Amino acid sequence: MGEELGGREVLFERVSDAQAAMTVRALVIVLGDQLDAQASAFDGFDASQDLVWMAEVAAESTHVWSSKQRIALFLAAMRHFADELRESGRPLQYTRLGDADNRGSLGRELEAAIERHEPQQLILTAPGDWRVLQELQASAARSGRRLEVRDDRHFYCTVREFKAYAAGRKSLRLEYFYREMRKRNAVLMQAGEPLGGAWNFDKDNREAFGSGGPGAVPARCRFVPDAITREIIDLVKTRFAEHPGQLDDFAWPVTRAQALASLRSFIAERLALFGHYQDAMWSAEPWLYHSHLAAALNLKLLNAREVVSAAEAAFHAGLAPIASVEGFIRQILGWREYVRGIYWSRMPDYGEMNALSAEEALPAWYWTGDTEMACLRETISQTLATGYAHHIQRLMVTGLYALLLGVRPQRVHEWYLAVYVDAVEWVELPNTLGMSQYADQGLMASKPYVATGRYIERMSNYCAGCRYDPELREGERACPFTTLYWDFLMRHAADLARNPRMALQVKNIKRLSERDQEAIRERAAALRAAPTA
Ligand SMILES: Cc1cc2nc3c(=O)[nH]c(=O)nc-3n(C[C@H](O)[C@H](O)[C@H](O)COP(=O)(O)OP(=O)(O)OC[C@H]3O[C@@H](n4cnc5c(N)ncnc54)[C@H](O)[C@@H]3O)c2cc1C
Ligand code: SF4
Repeated sequence: MGEELGGREVLFERVSDAQAAMTVRALVIVLGDQLDAQASAFDGFDASQDLVWMAEVAAESTHVWSSKQRIALFLAAMRHFADELRESGRPLQYTRLGDADNRGSLGRELEAAIERHEPQQLILTAPGDWRVLQELQASAARSGRRLEVRDDRHFYCTVREFKAYAAGRKSLRLEYFYREMRKRNAVLMQAGEPLGGAWNFDKDNREAFGSGGPGAVPARCRFVPDAITREIIDLVKTRFAEHPGQLDDFAWPVTRAQALASLRSFIAERLALFGHYQDAMWSAEPWLYHSHLAAALNLKLLNAREVVSAAEAAFHAGLAPIASVEGFIRQILGWREYVRGIYWSRMPDYGEMNALSAEEALPAWYWTGDTEMACLRETISQTLATGYAHHIQRLMVTGLYALLLGVRPQRVHEWYLAVYVDAVEWVELPNTLGMSQYADQGLMASKPYVATGRYIERMSNYCAGCRYDPELREGERACPFTTLYWDFLMRHAADLARNPRMALQVKNIKRLSERDQEAIRERAAALRAAPTA
């Protein structure tokens, strides 16, 4: 056994020995993002003949350069869930990262478990990553075992249902899918009509803070690391010392009870203003009125239905206005389900798409935050310290800069998958490659999300503390976003002009003189050549 022998480790041994003496009917595979005791893989589980299998493996933290926060969250949540399983009497074989015989990847560890326990079959709830499914299927095939992959009931819409919905549709826009989901699941509906008389309340949402800023924002729901989490934090600091990010402020929920407490605090303290300020950003205020629930949802510590129901109940109880509640529910019942459908119906080709032929490298400072651009410095530093940034910081700061610079989308994808605690490929990839980098030929987004630095100036106070000026497109003080926005339009003018939603923006190029256009091109080239700008 490994470096961390202790009370619980002995228990693993004892369970495994007992299990080794009997015939194992089914090995039930539980992955790090499947921490739900009600998951479909447990249907029909019989503790007298079935065995749960979980494994911490280095490959899952190194196939992209995972941040310390992300690794710590997954491992801490896995170990807490393992304890819950044991307490509920489900036999478990659990491999720790430090175990001497750990083979380092999910596939190889699974094969070792099959050799050891000789189960008749393997059972798995559909995983989040296409890569992981391939790996487990290959191991099952090599070991001559049947792998039963069950639907993930956590989601409202199965992949089969999404494919049926998508079949024959010319465009796959969120709005119609979302309406369908509302109707089908009777969420925010009244007598067949949308509650409040509209499907969408965006006109009431998405304000910036005034010049005085957000004022007193409710404190983030924090969880002081217990002994298990502290052990993980020490392990990650040692074993993944070179990985990006810091762990001094680790406070994420790592158990279902903590995740539920997080949900309650969001509903009581932040939901009412969620919609109003969902796009706003402010220096040194990472948490604002967002829920911070994505990681708990994606690890399945929370069920999407209970989150949606809690928000709907808050509206009926008069705790939050319809605009906020609808805006929040749309993110989960709409976007979250929609991106999963896109991912599973388009992989593996989706991951290789690069519609704009973008080939630049990701600037090295994405891994450190060491840049003079205040918005990027702030967003990246916060990301590395906490594993979190909200949607507009991801889409309109880090994502927008990479898009305008022309970074290869696969490099951008690797960064997002590495640095956020809520990053699992099924949700991260379509958001990055499709929504943010417009690399999927417009499947996800009807147009590229491009803007000058003035958008960031309008939605935040970042520009006030920056050496650049968002109004300027040329010269040493020109905001790199503004320069690169015009350069982007000029580089892709021919393609973008065919998109009716971009035609006006492209037409504006004509308002620039030849000299202006040349100056923009030169400065854009300089920004690409010196990415520390
Ligand atoms: C480039 C990029 C990469 C992203 N990568 C991820 C990722 O790896 N994992 C992830 O869960 N989300 C990702 N998102 C979506 C979104 O930014 C995060 O879900 C959100 O910021 C998480 O913070 P929160 O829990 O406070 O969300 P809130 O703002 O409180 O939103 C509520 C919930 O809605 C869901 N949600 C919101 N927006 C989206 C969306 N666009 N797609 C899917 N679900 C959504 C999340 O579960 C979230 O917890 C990404 C977005 C972009 C633009
Ligand atoms: S001026 Fe430009 S680079 Fe600086 S904070 Fe504003 S948008 Fe970001």
